[in-house]
Amino acid sequence: MPEGDTVLQTAGRLRTALAGQVLTRSDLRVPRFATADLTGRTVLDVVPRGKHLLTRVEGGLTLHSHLRMDGAWRVYAPGERWRGGPAHQIRAVLANAEHTAVGYRLPVLELLRTRDEAKAVGHLGPDLLGPDWDPDTALRNLLAVPGRPLGEALLDQRNLAGIGNVYKSELCFLARATPWLTVGDLAALTATRLVTTAKQLLEANRDRPLRTTTSTAPRGPAPKERLWVYGRRGRPCLRCGTPIRTADQDSRPTYWCPRCQSGPTH
Ligand SMILES: [Zn+2]
Repeated sequence: MPEGDTVLQTAGRLRTALAGQVLTRSDLRVPRFATADLTGRTVLDVVPRGKHLLTRVEGGLTLHSHLRMDGAWRVYAPGERWRGGPAHQIRAVLANAEHTAVGYRLPVLELLRTRDEAKAVGHLGPDLLGPDWDPDTALRNLLAVPGRPLGEALLDQRNLAGIGNVYKSELCFLARATPWLTVGDLAALTATRLVTTAKQLLEANRDRPLRTTTSTAPRGPAPKERLWVYGRRGRPCLRCGTPIRTADQDSRPTYWCPRCQSGPTH
C-alpha cells in the first residue's frame, strides 16, 4: 500500500504536469463518470490528503482518487510510450499540450464538487505531511481504543493519515513493541515518541526516491540497509542479529524482531 510520502510525491508530479494548464483531454474510464468531460478547464491544484489525491479543476470540481494497494499515476511527454500497465488497467487520462497524466488501477475515482471534498477525506485524522498536522490529536486518536493492536491503530487513517504497511512495521520496531501489543499497554512516553518518530520519518522521506527509515538525515548517502524490518524476513535484525519474523496482520504482511520488540505475536 502506498505510504503518505508516495502520495505526496505523486501529487507533486501531477501538480507540475497539470496545474495552471488547460486540459485538452479528459477520459475517466469508470462507468459512473464515463461521460464527464473536463476538457477546456484549467487544473488549479493537486493536493494530497493522507493517501488521497485531490485534483482541483476550474469550475468548482475535484477529481478524487486513491491509490490503495497498487494504483499509480504516471506522467508522460507527448509521443512517449505509456508503460504503467496494460490498457485495461487505465482508469483516467488527463492531458494538456505538454503532459499526459495516466491513472492506473485506481480503486477510487470520482468527480466531486470541490466544496464537498470533506465527504471524501473529512474522516481522516491529522495528516502527517499535511498543513493540518496535529500530534496531540493524532496521539489521542491512536490511543482511543485501549484494546486495539498497535499495528491496526497505526494503519487506521481515521487516527492519523499517511502510514502504510512499511511504516507500520518500522514504527513498531522503533517503538520496541510488536504490532499486536495493544495500544493500552504502550507506555505513555513510548506512545508520544512514536507519533514524533512517525512525523520525522515521513518528513525525512518527503522528497526521497527510495524510502529509508534507518537514516533520517534528509540528504547524504543512502544507508546500506534502508529499512529496519520490513521485507527482511529471516535476515538478521540490524540491532541484535535475531532473524526477523513475518506474519499477517489484517491479511497484510507485517515484520518484527522477536527479541527487540515485546508484546504478543499474532
Ligand atoms: Zn532485534
